Amino acid sequence: MPDSPALDRLRAAARDPRAYVAQWREAHRGHQVVGVMPMNFPREIAVAAGVLAVTITDDQQPVGEGRAYLPEFYCGYTRNLADQAATGRLDHFDAVLLADHCIQLLGASDVARALDDTTPVFFGMLISSLSDTWAPAKIAEMMGQFRHEFEQLTGRRITDADLREAVEVCNRDRALLRRLLDERAAGDATWSPVELVDLVTSAQVMDPREHHALLVEAVAAAGDTRVRDDRVRVHLSGHLCHAPRRELLEVIEDSGAVVVDDDLWTGRRFAQTAVPLGEEEDPMDAIGRWYAERNVDLPCPTRVQHEVDWDVWLVEATRRSGAEAVIHLMPKFCEPHMLFYPELRKSLDAADIPQLLVETEHEGIPLESLRTRLEALVERTLRRRPAHV
Ligand code: SF4
Repeated sequence: MPDSPALDRLRAAARDPRAYVAQWREAHRGHQVVGVMPMNFPREIAVAAGVLAVTITDDQQPVGEGRAYLPEFYCGYTRNLADQAATGRLDHFDAVLLADHCIQLLGASDVARALDDTTPVFFGMLISSLSDTWAPAKIAEMMGQFRHEFEQLTGRRITDADLREAVEVCNRDRALLRRLLDERAAGDATWSPVELVDLVTSAQVMDPREHHALLVEAVAAAGDTRVRDDRVRVHLSGHLCHAPRRELLEVIEDSGAVVVDDDLWTGRRFAQTAVPLGEEEDPMDAIGRWYAERNVDLPCPTRVQHEVDWDVWLVEATRRSGAEAVIHLMPKFCEPHMLFYPELRKSLDAADIPQLLVETEHEGIPLESLRTRLEALVERTLRRRPAHV
């Protein structure tokens, strides 16, 4: 475990965003803090406006009061968001913003809007059908609207130079995270899955300049501890918009598997795509292309694009990383994931890749029965390895 003071600070921000927001406000008086929802929010525009954009995570508190506002068949993340809104746990934000994502998240943001009429909630309707000829114009229009919202919130104009700098800052931070994920896929076992989730989650919470400086320090302190071992190499797939519980990630590796890649929101899905900003290019155009291209780099079941498919991407990802098995982490009642899952299963079966579906619940999962299922997957996968001569 590559512990260091820098890693401690990143971990603290990931696990207690509220405390980080309080510190940041103290150090940046007069600047606003907004809560944003995963996955499509263009945080570069917030950075350009001098606003701290904090992805609102599942804070893993039991759903109490919020239970009254959303049906039981909404996913745990959205019910937790409703509970946060109902109990004032979003009151450290000056506004809440979301870019189109899924129906259930819309429901949660409506609850936030209804319960707190002092915190503005802005819903940016980004086009979800990305193959349409009119998609680029629609995306540009909505990105412009986000820019306008931030100008209204802060009372200052966002210049192209502000945007250009924000894009560079965010790209640099994502690039280092991507490098760590790529190194893991290539066999580097320096960071455990829990540590990598903390590194990525902290990037979704912190000022990207501060995050990057700490990340550089944490990576340097970790040194060169690449240990490749014989455990079964697995790819984690799913959890589109919040982190799997730490104990779940730990039990996966305790069962004889090593996580080599993922497509989690708190992993590759966040870090995969940089804003493709050319020297002469309008930064707003580049931010619009980022939105469209991230679905090509790593397809999302909430978007529609005829040229790409999550199942094809997943099979290719296992080939790139040498993953021997796939573990699907599906939050209970996550409709986009449920709708895609049969296709994922079919493609992996056709490619002869062992897989296991784990349905996760906000309230937790029985770890001992899960351990048995994971050990069975490990055994099954080990038996496929060629016998040693
Ligand atoms: S994508 Fe799934 S987990 Fe995320 S908010 Fe929608 S239903 Fe919930």
